[in-house]
Amino acid sequence: MNNGKSTYLSLANLRARIAFEKYRFFLPQTISDYRRLLTHEKMSADELREFNFERRKEILFYAYENSIYYRRRFNDLGFSPNDVQKEEDWNLVPILTKQNVRDYFDEIQASSIPRSRVFIRTTGGSTGVPLKTLGDRSSSHHALGWRARKWWGVPILCDYVACGRSPEKTSFLGRLKKWPIYVCVLNASCMTEESCSAFVQKVREIKPLMFYGYAGGISQFAQFCLDNKIEFNNFSAIVTTSSPISFVQKEFIEKALNAPVYDQYGCVEINWLALQCQRRGGLHINSDERHIEFLSENNQTQVPVGALGNITVTDFGNRVFPLIRYQMGDMGKAMAGQCECGLPFPLMESVRGRVSDSLFFPNGTVIAGEYATTLFDAFPEAVKAFQVYQKADYSVELRIVPNLNHVNSQNQIEQVRQKFQQLIGSTPLTVVSVSEIPHDRGKTRFVISEVNSSTVRNCPTS
Ligand SMILES: [Zn+2]
Repeated sequence: MNNGKSTYLSLANLRARIAFEKYRFFLPQTISDYRRLLTHEKMSADELREFNFERRKEILFYAYENSIYYRRRFNDLGFSPNDVQKEEDWNLVPILTKQNVRDYFDEIQASSIPRSRVFIRTTGGSTGVPLKTLGDRSSSHHALGWRARKWWGVPILCDYVACGRSPEKTSFLGRLKKWPIYVCVLNASCMTEESCSAFVQKVREIKPLMFYGYAGGISQFAQFCLDNKIEFNNFSAIVTTSSPISFVQKEFIEKALNAPVYDQYGCVEINWLALQCQRRGGLHINSDERHIEFLSENNQTQVPVGALGNITVTDFGNRVFPLIRYQMGDMGKAMAGQCECGLPFPLMESVRGRVSDSLFFPNGTVIAGEYATTLFDAFPEAVKAFQVYQKADYSVELRIVPNLNHVNSQNQIEQVRQKFQQLIGSTPLTVVSVSEIPHDRGKTRFVISEVNSSTVRNCPTS
């Protein structure tokens, strides 16, 4: 029965095998990293805690020896990595803020790292403050992605579709890198009936097992499928990124796309922080590669399990640009106990500190809110913060806190404005300078839209 499907699956298996051999030849480290990560699954919770503590100490020493910023900061505070002997001592390690990263970008970088290992990461930031950091090609982020797929019951190498802003995945070079794995991206920056219809055709052709991307964008696509009575039965996992997903939104996507939605948490600066397994309880913190703390308002103490705290993260893998006790501005809660799946990793609740809307336009175009976070990616120094505000009449206000210390700021803001204007067509767009972006219970909403999406769907398309 179902010969067509099994033939398709065996072809997919063959292509996965070829992709794996490609990794073995070109990126053997990913395979050894993955095998190493799998051994951590067999640790007890206590062993994993101990291992995590050792790795924290190791990155402290590394940063002290290789980064001008950390050495000076520790010396100024009279702190030495040797002072960290037991868990409580970790509170002595200074916090790294986004502002520190902006102010001391050059000094944070580790010395004597070959340029081939370095890549640039820019982000609009979950809290509307653009930022540039550096990534390390030798870190285990690929292997963490593979382990995540294993936890979702998806082969580590399989065809997938995405909703995001990664045009390189659809470029010739991007496809060549992925070959023979098929990847198709729905551009979240401009979702129209046409682009959604074309994407539906691709999904039917590729029959991908995984759909990965912006929660807001996937939600919009799910709405398109429901409106047009389009059904799928190929997905095994839908994974949402970039912004928290509400329970209602999750149920809605699952019903529309006929597959479980897994929540994962990460940021551009440090990906794969925590994720749900197939049990879909708490998010498993990848504590063998990252450390997450939940700190009190003054950052002096850890808040109790279940209490809301400032999420503070240490990345063990990035030796290019060490991020130790880094705060990206999210709030979250640790959870007690372990997952029923038996994995030893500590758990946290889904992050609810980030809120993003989508932008809706009269002709039916939708721009996923997460896309707006990337507006200043090319010029992270141009503004100190920004927010996109759409009024009920569809007009858009780009609110910015200009960075007056940056010489080219005006010109760069104008370039961003022009690019954004192109995207939204004839809809009025104004740039408004403000002294600060107002916070909503400690969080900045980077996109706010007063347009009701259901109104848009009832609009005749023009
Ligand atoms: Zn689990």
